[in-house]
Order: sequence, then C-alpha cells, then structure tokens
Amino acid sequence: MTDSGKLVLFSGPSGVGKDTLLDILAAKCPELQRSVSLTTRAPRENETDGVDYYFVSSADFEKMLQDGEVLEFAQYGKYMYGTPKRPVDKWLQEGKTVVLKIEVQGAAKIKKMYPHALAIFIMPPSMEILEKRLRRRGTEDEDDLLRRMAIARDEVEKRHDYDFVVTNDDLEEAANVVLRILRQES
Ligand code: 5GP
Repeated sequence: MTDSGKLVLFSGPSGVGKDTLLDILAAKCPELQRSVSLTTRAPRENETDGVDYYFVSSADFEKMLQDGEVLEFAQYGKYMYGTPKRPVDKWLQEGKTVVLKIEVQGAAKIKKMYPHALAIFIMPPSMEILEKRLRRRGTEDEDDLLRRMAIARDEVEKRHDYDFVVTNDDLEEAANVVLRILRQES
C-alpha cells in the first residue's frame, strides 16, 4: 500500500449502535474521516442525502460500478451498498484515518485489498437485546426487521475474522474501548 493513511472497518449487525458510536467517536476525534456510502435503499426520516448516504437509483449504482467508481459493494437485504472509491483514495493519500461503516462481505473484500486495515466488530450484548433495539428504533417494517435479524445472526458468526470485537452494552464505555483501540493501533 503506497498510501500513508489508515483504513478502519466498522461492522456489526443492524441496530447495534454503529452510527451512535461513530458520532461519539467523531466528537472525540475530529481527525477521523467518515466515508459516505452509496445505497439504493430509501432514506429514513432522519437521514440526509450526502451526509448519511448518497441515496441513488439502482441504475446509477450500476453505472458507478461499471465506471470503476466503487471500491467495494455488497447486497444487504434487498438493497445495494457501496463505498465510493475516489474520496477514500484521496483521504488515504492525505494520510487520514478513514472509517468505513460496512457489512461483513464488504469488510472481507477490503481486508484482502488493504491487509493493514483495522477491522472492528461491534457486538450486541445479546440477540434479544439487538431485536429490542431494532424494534425500538422503528425504522423498518416487520419483513425488513426479520430480514435484518436473520442477516445479524450470520454476521455475528464472522466476528472472529475481525481484529477486535467490542460489545456495545453501554455506549460511552464501548466508545472508550474503540477509542483506545484506535489510539493504540495508529
Ligand atoms: P443500513 O440500511 O442499516 O444503513 O445499512 C445496512 C448495512 O449495510 C449495515 O451493516 C451497514 O454497515 C452496511 N453498509 C453501509 N454502507 C456500506 C458500504 O458502503 N458497503 C458495504 N459493504 N456495506 C455497507
């Protein structure tokens, strides 16, 4: 790898609290650069295009893939998700620490391309608590929620492929553990 920056992969089942953790981390480490992914799913009520995701049509997603503008991509449930390549290349060249919030297939692809990427998996205290959190969040209909729980059960089996596994029981505590990992590994 000729770049001088560092890639951090942040995975974990839907509803585990990755976004909230990343918000806490971003406040404590303004130098972290969060990548904004492409997705073909519709925005949730509280999401903004260009901030939470680039919300694109399937045709636009396909075109970006063909144009080589996507670093990695994966299907998750019914939708496609991918990391725009150009900004990540640029930030790495600038020496930045770039965080990708990414599901397990994409993380495995990135680990192959960038073996030095730091891979962190966020675990729920239990699958029951995860389901309660997802239901409380209320952003998915029942079908989508059950699909996410099924994906979650597969995802947690992959946690051993990660460099670090952090359980998100208490948010502040989990954020501090991740912070220590980032400091120790950079
Ligand atoms: P959500 O619909 O809950 O925002 O995201 C669903 C899953 O897609 C989450 O596990 C999230 O981390 C993952 N994801 C978000 N962006 C990307 C991406 O660019 N690439 C991959 N492979 N997964 C992503």
